[in-house]
Amino acid sequence: MDNDTGQTRLPSLLSKLGKLTAIRDTELLEQSLLKTLGPQLGVLNTSLYRTDEDFALARVIHYHRSKEVDAAGVSRIVERIEEVLNVQDLPPEIGALTENVRLLSRPCTRRLGSEMAIAYPLFGDGEICGYFVFQRDHEVSPTEDTIIRGVLEVFSNYYALLDVSMRDRLTGLFNRQALENSFDRLWTALGRPISYSEPGGARHAAPTNRYWLAVIDIDHFKQINDVHGHIVGDEILLLAARLMCHTFRSSDLLYRYGGEEFVAIVSADSDEVARSIFERVRQTIEAHAFPRVERLTISIGYCRANPDFLPQEVLARADRSLYEAKRQGRNRVCEYEELVRTGVFKEIAYGDSELF
Ligand code: GH3
Ligand code: MG
Ligand code: MG
Repeated sequence: MDNDTGQTRLPSLLSKLGKLTAIRDTELLEQSLLKTLGPQLGVLNTSLYRTDEDFALARVIHYHRSKEVDAAGVSRIVERIEEVLNVQDLPPEIGALTENVRLLSRPCTRRLGSEMAIAYPLFGDGEICGYFVFQRDHEVSPTEDTIIRGVLEVFSNYYALLDVSMRDRLTGLFNRQALENSFDRLWTALGRPISYSEPGGARHAAPTNRYWLAVIDIDHFKQINDVHGHIVGDEILLLAARLMCHTFRSSDLLYRYGGEEFVAIVSADSDEVARSIFERVRQTIEAHAFPRVERLTISIGYCRANPDFLPQEVLARADRSLYEAKRQGRNRVCEYEELVRTGVFKEIAYGDSELF
Protein backbone atom coordinates (compact mmCIF):
# COMPACT_ATOMS: atom_id res chain seq x y z
CA MET A 1 0.00 0.00 0.00
CA ASP A 2 2.85 2.24 0.87
CA ASN A 3 4.35 1.56 -2.55
CA ASP A 4 1.07 2.29 -4.29
CA THR A 5 0.78 5.60 -2.53
CA GLY A 6 4.33 6.46 -3.53
CA GLN A 7 3.71 5.58 -7.18
CA THR A 8 0.42 7.39 -7.61
CA ARG A 9 1.92 10.52 -6.11
CA LEU A 10 5.12 10.36 -8.12
CA PRO A 11 3.98 12.43 -11.16
CA SER A 12 2.67 15.14 -8.88
CA LEU A 13 5.90 15.10 -6.89
CA LEU A 14 8.05 15.39 -10.02
CA SER A 15 5.97 18.25 -11.34
CA LYS A 16 6.28 20.02 -7.99
CA LEU A 17 10.04 19.48 -7.95
CA GLY A 18 10.17 21.06 -11.40
CA LYS A 19 8.30 24.09 -10.09
CA LEU A 20 10.49 24.19 -6.99
CA THR A 21 13.66 24.57 -9.01
CA ALA A 22 12.12 27.27 -11.22
CA ILE A 23 11.92 29.60 -8.22
CA ARG A 24 14.47 32.39 -7.95
CA ASP A 25 13.94 33.47 -4.35
CA THR A 26 15.20 31.52 -1.34
CA GLU A 27 12.20 32.22 0.86
CA LEU A 28 9.67 31.35 -1.81
CA LEU A 29 11.65 28.17 -2.23
CA GLU A 30 11.20 27.37 1.46
CA GLN A 31 7.47 27.93 1.21
CA SER A 32 7.32 25.78 -1.85
CA LEU A 33 9.12 22.95 -0.07
CA LEU A 34 6.34 22.83 2.51
CA LYS A 35 3.67 22.98 -0.19
CA THR A 36 5.37 20.06 -1.91
CA LEU A 37 5.88 17.82 1.09
CA GLY A 38 2.67 18.51 3.03
CA PRO A 39 0.26 16.98 0.49
CA GLN A 40 2.78 14.26 -0.35
CA LEU A 41 2.69 13.09 3.26
CA GLY A 42 -1.04 13.65 3.60
CA VAL A 43 -0.61 16.11 6.47
CA LEU A 44 -2.36 19.42 6.95
CA ASN A 45 0.41 21.27 8.78
CA THR A 46 4.13 21.31 8.13
CA SER A 47 6.80 23.65 9.44
CA LEU A 48 10.30 24.66 8.53
CA TYR A 49 12.43 25.85 11.43
CA ARG A 50 15.51 27.81 10.45
CA THR A 51 18.41 28.17 12.85
CA ASP A 52 21.39 30.50 12.89
CA GLU A 53 25.05 29.48 13.15
CA ASP A 54 24.67 28.94 16.93
CA PHE A 55 21.72 26.60 16.29
CA ALA A 56 19.37 29.17 17.84
CA LEU A 57 15.99 29.54 16.18
CA ALA A 58 16.04 32.32 13.59
CA ARG A 59 12.64 32.01 11.94
CA VAL A 60 9.79 29.65 11.22
CA ILE A 61 7.56 29.05 8.25
CA HIS A 62 4.29 27.26 8.90
CA TYR A 63 2.19 25.77 6.15
CA HIS A 64 -1.47 25.04 6.88
CA ARG A 65 -3.94 23.26 4.64
CA SER A 66 -7.58 23.04 5.46
CA LYS A 67 -10.71 21.86 3.77
CA GLU A 68 -13.44 24.49 3.58
CA VAL A 69 -17.01 23.87 2.55
CA ASP A 70 -18.88 26.85 1.09
CA ALA A 71 -22.59 27.62 1.40
CA ALA A 72 -23.35 25.53 -1.69
CA GLY A 73 -21.68 22.53 -0.07
CA VAL A 74 -18.68 22.60 -2.41
CA SER A 75 -15.46 21.80 -0.62
CA ARG A 76 -12.03 23.13 -1.53
CA ILE A 77 -8.54 23.02 -0.09
CA VAL A 78 -7.32 26.30 1.35
CA GLU A 79 -3.58 26.78 1.85
CA ARG A 80 -2.02 29.32 4.19
CA ILE A 81 1.64 30.16 4.70
CA GLU A 82 2.73 32.01 7.80
CA GLU A 83 6.26 33.24 8.31
CA VAL A 84 7.37 34.20 11.81
CA LEU A 85 10.54 36.27 11.88
CA ASN A 86 11.16 37.12 15.49
CA VAL A 87 10.78 33.85 17.33
CA GLN A 88 12.64 33.39 20.59
CA ASP A 89 12.05 29.75 21.47
CA LEU A 90 10.66 26.60 19.97
CA PRO A 91 7.64 25.01 21.69
CA PRO A 92 9.26 22.75 24.39
CA GLU A 93 8.25 19.45 22.80
CA ILE A 94 9.51 20.53 19.35
CA GLY A 95 12.64 21.98 20.97
CA ALA A 96 13.45 18.62 22.58
CA LEU A 97 12.75 16.78 19.33
CA THR A 98 14.93 19.03 17.17
CA GLU A 99 17.69 18.88 19.77
CA ASN A 100 17.76 15.08 19.28
CA VAL A 101 17.86 15.58 15.51
CA ARG A 102 20.79 17.94 15.94
CA LEU A 103 22.70 15.61 18.25
CA LEU A 104 22.11 12.52 16.11
CA SER A 105 22.18 14.25 12.70
CA ARG A 106 19.24 12.17 11.56
CA PRO A 107 15.43 12.29 11.59
CA CYS A 108 13.75 11.72 14.96
CA THR A 109 10.22 11.07 16.14
CA ARG A 110 8.46 11.92 19.37
CA ARG A 111 5.01 10.90 20.58
CA LEU A 112 2.69 13.82 21.30
CA GLY A 113 -0.58 12.46 22.69
CA SER A 114 -2.25 10.49 19.90
CA GLU A 115 0.08 11.92 17.28
CA MET A 116 3.75 11.72 16.44
CA ALA A 117 5.93 14.76 15.83
CA ILE A 118 8.51 13.95 13.17
CA ALA A 119 11.55 16.11 12.45
CA TYR A 120 14.12 15.88 9.65
CA PRO A 121 17.37 17.83 9.61
CA LEU A 122 18.06 20.41 6.91
CA PHE A 123 21.68 20.71 5.91
CA GLY A 124 23.59 23.66 4.52
CA ASP A 125 27.37 23.50 4.02
CA GLY A 126 27.38 20.12 5.77
CA GLU A 127 25.91 21.59 8.93
CA ILE A 128 22.40 21.49 10.31
CA CYS A 129 20.71 24.77 9.49
CA GLY A 130 17.11 23.91 10.25
CA TYR A 131 14.41 21.28 10.60
CA PHE A 132 11.46 20.10 8.61
CA VAL A 133 8.74 19.17 11.12
CA PHE A 134 5.27 17.69 10.82
CA GLN A 135 2.79 15.78 12.93
CA ARG A 136 0.51 12.89 12.14
CA ASP A 137 -0.88 9.75 13.74
CA HIS A 138 1.51 7.22 12.20
CA GLU A 139 5.20 6.83 11.53
CA VAL A 140 6.97 7.52 8.25
CA SER A 141 7.12 4.53 5.90
CA PRO A 142 10.40 3.60 4.18
CA THR A 143 9.10 4.96 0.84
CA GLU A 144 8.05 8.21 2.44
CA ASP A 145 11.39 8.44 4.19
CA THR A 146 13.17 8.15 0.83
CA ILE A 147 10.89 10.80 -0.68
CA ILE A 148 11.42 13.25 2.19
CA ARG A 149 15.19 12.79 2.18
CA GLY A 150 15.33 13.16 -1.61
CA VAL A 151 13.18 16.29 -1.70
CA LEU A 152 15.11 17.85 1.20
CA GLU A 153 18.38 17.16 -0.60
CA VAL A 154 17.17 18.72 -3.87
CA PHE A 155 15.88 21.65 -1.83
CA SER A 156 19.14 22.13 0.12
CA ASN A 157 21.36 21.95 -2.96
CA TYR A 158 19.19 24.36 -4.88
CA TYR A 159 18.83 26.65 -1.87
CA ALA A 160 22.62 26.87 -1.61
CA LEU A 161 22.87 27.89 -5.28
CA LEU A 162 20.17 30.52 -4.95
CA ASP A 163 21.61 31.79 -1.71
CA VAL A 164 24.92 32.53 -3.44
CA SER A 165 23.10 34.63 -6.04
CA MET A 166 21.37 36.62 -3.28
CA ARG A 167 24.60 37.48 -1.49
CA ASP A 168 27.22 40.13 -1.87
CA ARG A 169 30.61 38.61 -2.65
CA LEU A 170 32.76 40.73 -0.36
CA THR A 171 30.70 40.69 2.82
CA GLY A 172 28.46 37.64 2.37
CA LEU A 173 25.48 39.83 3.31
CA PHE A 174 22.28 39.82 1.29
CA ASN A 175 22.55 41.96 -1.86
CA ARG A 176 20.24 44.45 -3.50
CA GLN A 177 18.37 41.76 -5.40
CA ALA A 178 17.61 40.02 -2.11
CA LEU A 179 16.34 43.33 -0.72
CA GLU A 180 13.89 43.68 -3.63
CA ASN A 181 12.60 40.18 -2.89
CA SER A 182 12.28 40.97 0.81
CA PHE A 183 10.28 44.08 -0.03
CA ASP A 184 7.80 42.02 -2.04
CA ARG A 185 7.39 39.54 0.78
CA LEU A 186 7.30 42.02 3.62
CA TRP A 187 4.76 44.28 1.94
CA THR A 188 2.55 41.32 1.16
CA ALA A 189 2.86 40.20 4.78
CA LEU A 190 2.03 43.70 5.97
CA GLY A 191 -1.28 43.36 4.21
CA ARG A 192 -0.69 45.51 1.21
CA PRO A 193 -0.07 44.21 -2.28
CA ILE A 194 3.03 45.54 -3.92
CA SER A 195 1.15 47.08 -6.87
CA TYR A 196 0.23 50.56 -5.83
CA SER A 197 -3.47 51.32 -5.74
CA GLU A 198 -4.67 54.87 -6.23
CA PRO A 199 -4.14 57.18 -3.23
CA GLY A 200 -7.23 57.33 -1.06
CA GLY A 201 -8.14 53.76 -1.99
CA ALA A 202 -9.03 51.12 0.55
CA ARG A 203 -6.68 50.99 3.52
CA HIS A 204 -5.73 47.71 5.07
CA ALA A 205 -5.98 46.72 8.70
CA ALA A 206 -3.03 47.81 10.83
CA PRO A 207 -0.43 45.09 10.92
CA THR A 208 0.32 43.54 14.28
CA ASN A 209 3.98 43.30 13.50
CA ARG A 210 5.88 46.51 13.00
CA TYR A 211 8.99 46.67 10.90
CA TRP A 212 11.57 49.39 10.61
CA LEU A 213 13.87 50.08 7.76
CA ALA A 214 17.27 51.70 8.19
CA VAL A 215 19.87 52.96 5.78
CA ILE A 216 23.33 52.71 7.32
CA ASP A 217 26.35 54.46 5.85
CA ILE A 218 29.97 54.38 6.97
CA ASP A 219 31.26 57.84 7.79
CA HIS A 220 34.14 59.33 5.77
CA PHE A 221 34.93 56.02 4.17
CA LYS A 222 36.51 57.62 1.12
CA GLN A 223 39.29 58.95 3.38
CA ILE A 224 40.13 55.40 4.48
CA ASN A 225 40.62 54.35 0.87
CA ASP A 226 42.56 57.51 0.10
CA VAL A 227 44.92 57.11 3.05
CA HIS A 228 45.29 53.31 3.31
CA GLY A 229 44.30 52.02 -0.11
CA HIS A 230 41.44 49.93 -1.38
CA ILE A 231 42.60 46.62 0.08
CA VAL A 232 42.58 47.96 3.62
CA GLY A 233 39.27 49.63 2.78
CA ASP A 234 37.83 46.27 1.75
CA GLU A 235 39.04 44.62 4.94
CA ILE A 236 37.49 47.31 7.11
CA LEU A 237 34.26 47.12 5.14
CA LEU A 238 34.14 43.38 5.71
CA LEU A 239 34.84 43.74 9.43
CA ALA A 240 32.18 46.42 9.81
CA ALA A 241 29.67 44.20 7.99
CA ARG A 242 30.47 41.22 10.24
CA LEU A 243 30.20 43.34 13.39
CA MET A 244 26.85 44.76 12.35
CA CYS A 245 25.57 41.35 11.38
CA HIS A 246 26.44 39.94 14.80
CA THR A 247 25.02 42.92 16.65
CA PHE A 248 21.65 42.76 14.96
CA ARG A 249 19.37 39.97 16.18
CA SER A 250 19.29 36.84 14.09
CA SER A 251 15.75 37.68 12.96
CA ASP A 252 16.85 41.07 11.61
CA LEU A 253 17.80 41.35 7.96
CA LEU A 254 20.94 43.13 6.78
CA TYR A 255 21.77 43.91 3.16
CA ARG A 256 24.73 45.52 1.43
CA TYR A 257 22.89 48.15 -0.54
CA GLY A 258 25.82 49.84 -2.24
CA GLY A 259 29.54 50.42 -1.66
CA GLU A 260 29.69 51.37 2.03
CA GLU A 261 25.95 51.57 2.44
CA PHE A 262 23.73 48.98 4.09
CA VAL A 263 20.01 48.50 4.61
CA ALA A 264 18.54 46.78 7.68
CA ILE A 265 14.98 45.60 8.27
CA VAL A 266 14.12 44.90 11.88
CA SER A 267 10.89 44.10 13.63
CA ALA A 268 10.12 46.04 16.81
CA ASP A 269 6.90 46.95 18.58
CA SER A 270 7.83 50.56 19.14
CA ASP A 271 10.08 53.30 17.91
CA GLU A 272 12.04 53.11 21.20
CA VAL A 273 12.87 49.44 20.69
CA ALA A 274 13.84 50.06 17.05
CA ARG A 275 16.01 53.00 18.08
CA SER A 276 17.75 50.97 20.78
CA ILE A 277 18.61 48.28 18.22
CA PHE A 278 20.11 50.81 15.79
CA GLU A 279 21.86 52.67 18.62
CA ARG A 280 23.47 49.42 19.74
CA VAL A 281 24.79 48.83 16.23
CA ARG A 282 26.13 52.37 16.01
CA GLN A 283 27.86 52.04 19.40
CA THR A 284 29.34 48.65 18.54
CA ILE A 285 31.06 50.08 15.47
CA GLU A 286 32.23 53.16 17.34
CA ALA A 287 33.69 51.04 20.17
CA HIS A 288 35.49 48.55 17.95
CA ALA A 289 39.25 48.82 17.38
CA PHE A 290 39.62 48.44 13.60
CA PRO A 291 43.05 47.82 12.11
CA ARG A 292 44.91 50.90 10.82
CA VAL A 293 42.18 53.42 11.42
CA GLU A 294 41.84 55.13 14.76
CA ARG A 295 38.11 55.25 14.70
CA LEU A 296 35.28 54.19 12.47
CA THR A 297 31.71 55.39 12.81
CA ILE A 298 28.42 54.95 11.00
CA SER A 299 25.36 57.11 10.53
CA ILE A 300 21.87 55.66 10.45
CA GLY A 301 18.56 56.99 9.15
CA TYR A 302 15.46 54.93 9.75
CA CYS A 303 11.74 54.92 9.22
CA ARG A 304 8.81 52.63 9.96
CA ALA A 305 7.98 50.24 7.14
CA ASN A 306 4.52 51.72 6.76
CA PRO A 307 2.59 49.55 4.27
CA ASP A 308 0.60 52.59 3.15
CA PHE A 309 3.73 53.65 1.30
CA LEU A 310 5.67 51.89 -1.39
CA PRO A 311 8.93 50.24 -0.32
CA GLN A 312 10.85 52.82 -2.37
CA GLU A 313 9.06 55.61 -0.52
CA VAL A 314 10.01 54.14 2.86
CA LEU A 315 13.57 53.73 1.65
CA ALA A 316 13.60 57.38 0.52
CA ARG A 317 12.41 58.47 3.99
CA ALA A 318 15.11 56.46 5.72
CA ASP A 319 17.67 57.86 3.28
CA ARG A 320 16.48 61.41 3.90
CA SER A 321 16.94 60.77 7.64
CA LEU A 322 20.43 59.41 7.01
CA TYR A 323 21.27 62.59 5.15
CA GLU A 324 20.17 64.52 8.23
CA ALA A 325 22.30 62.31 10.52
CA LYS A 326 25.28 63.16 8.29
CA ARG A 327 24.41 66.85 8.30
CA GLN A 328 24.15 66.91 12.10
CA GLY A 329 27.72 65.65 12.41
CA ARG A 330 27.61 61.88 11.62
CA ASN A 331 27.95 58.97 14.10
CA ARG A 332 24.28 59.26 15.02
CA VAL A 333 20.85 57.71 14.51
CA CYS A 334 17.96 59.79 13.11
CA GLU A 335 14.35 58.74 12.73
CA TYR A 336 12.11 60.14 10.03
CA GLU A 337 8.93 60.80 12.05
CA GLU A 338 10.88 62.57 14.74
CA LEU A 339 12.62 64.80 12.22
CA VAL A 340 9.25 65.73 10.72
CA ARG A 341 7.69 66.25 14.18
CA THR A 342 10.49 68.51 15.33
CA GLY A 343 10.32 70.53 12.12
CA VAL A 344 13.76 69.59 10.79
CA PHE A 345 12.12 68.89 7.44
CA LYS A 346 8.65 68.52 5.98
CA GLU A 347 6.90 65.22 5.35
CA ILE A 348 7.89 63.79 1.97
CA ALA A 349 4.65 63.75 -0.01
CA TYR A 350 3.74 60.88 -2.27
CA GLY A 351 4.78 61.68 -5.82
CA ASP A 352 7.55 64.07 -4.77
CA SER A 353 9.89 64.11 -7.70
CA GLU A 354 12.96 63.62 -5.51
CA LEU A 355 11.71 60.12 -4.76
CA PHE A 356 11.57 58.81 -8.28
P1 GH3 B 1 30.13 60.24 4.24
O1 GH3 B 1 30.48 60.33 5.69
O2 GH3 B 1 29.47 61.49 3.78
O3 GH3 B 1 29.36 59.03 3.94
O4 GH3 B 1 31.53 60.18 3.46
P2 GH3 B 1 32.10 58.98 2.62
O5 GH3 B 1 33.50 59.29 2.28
O6 GH3 B 1 31.87 57.68 3.31
O7 GH3 B 1 31.13 58.98 1.37
P3 GH3 B 1 31.38 59.01 -0.18
O8 GH3 B 1 30.06 58.63 -0.78
O9 GH3 B 1 31.98 60.29 -0.62
O10 GH3 B 1 32.43 57.86 -0.46
C1 GH3 B 1 32.16 56.52 -0.30
C2 GH3 B 1 33.42 55.78 -0.60
O11 GH3 B 1 33.29 54.38 -0.35
C3 GH3 B 1 33.86 55.91 -2.02
C4 GH3 B 1 34.44 54.56 -2.38
O12 GH3 B 1 35.78 54.69 -2.66
C5 GH3 B 1 34.25 53.73 -1.13
N1 GH3 B 1 33.81 52.39 -1.44
C6 GH3 B 1 32.61 52.01 -1.94
N2 GH3 B 1 32.56 50.67 -2.11
C7 GH3 B 1 33.77 50.18 -1.73
C8 GH3 B 1 34.34 48.88 -1.68
O13 GH3 B 1 33.73 47.86 -2.03
N3 GH3 B 1 35.62 48.77 -1.23
C9 GH3 B 1 36.33 49.86 -0.83
N4 GH3 B 1 37.55 49.68 -0.39
N5 GH3 B 1 35.82 51.09 -0.87
C10 GH3 B 1 34.57 51.27 -1.31
MG1 MG C 1 29.88 57.07 3.66
MG1 MG D 1 27.64 56.35 0.93
